[in-house]
Amino acid sequence: MRHRWRLVVAALGLTLLPAGCGSAPARAGGPGAARPRSHSPSPTASPSPSVQARLVRSTALPGGGDGPSGSLRTTGTAAVALTFDDGPSPVWTPKVLALLKRHHLHATFCLIGEQVKEYPKLVARIIAGGHTLCNHSWDHDEFMSQRSTKYIRSELTRTDRAIRKAAPGATVRYYRQPGGNWSKRIVRVSHQLGMAPLGWSVDPSDWKRPPTSSIIANVKSNTGHGSIVLMHDGGGDRSHTYAALRTLLPYLSRRYDLIRL
Ligand SMILES: [Zn+2]
Repeated sequence: MRHRWRLVVAALGLTLLPAGCGSAPARAGGPGAARPRSHSPSPTASPSPSVQARLVRSTALPGGGDGPSGSLRTTGTAAVALTFDDGPSPVWTPKVLALLKRHHLHATFCLIGEQVKEYPKLVARIIAGGHTLCNHSWDHDEFMSQRSTKYIRSELTRTDRAIRKAAPGATVRYYRQPGGNWSKRIVRVSHQLGMAPLGWSVDPSDWKRPPTSSIIANVKSNTGHGSIVLMHDGGGDRSHTYAALRTLLPYLSRRYDLIRL
């Protein structure tokens, strides 16, 4: 159960570490003031995607990360990547998939093992939509950096297995650490398991359910060439995120080459 961290935190009287990705509010204990701000490239960058970016999109893959502990913070090209965390959600994932399809766009979905086990058919739907999969740990463990290498490896492997069981033949080339609480060890294990450590550069904190207008304004002002945008299709009520996407998808696709990773 994902509630257990909330309980541990409450019992110890702790404040959670800065969480970049999305902890759902229910399990985040409401911190967030110390969350890292977006580190996106200059929003003043020219809005038109370069031809070169289109040409190299298929090679914009795991390189040396420019984010915390060597994680990937940007796409490495002018293209922008949309990423969705904490699903699959039986309510919101299908809606987000339908919206992406309507705009002929692809994204990357960072899946939680527990959710995959509960909603395996949604994994197949994500793949059928032509999107990229990312491992987001078994139970959204934001304290992974404090665990043993053996534990990290087993949690990532367990999630990977659940994804492959849900969608035989699926390829999972990315791992995203919950909370963005990376460590060198987590990055190393990710690489050893064949997954690039996926971070982000734009974080509208949509998991906290700010007003839709705030999510839109944040993404618009912080996204630039190379941005990896973090949003959520799981972890709670994503109605504000969904509403924001209805504006953001056409807005972003007019200005950038939007890629799945
Ligand atoms: Zn998350």
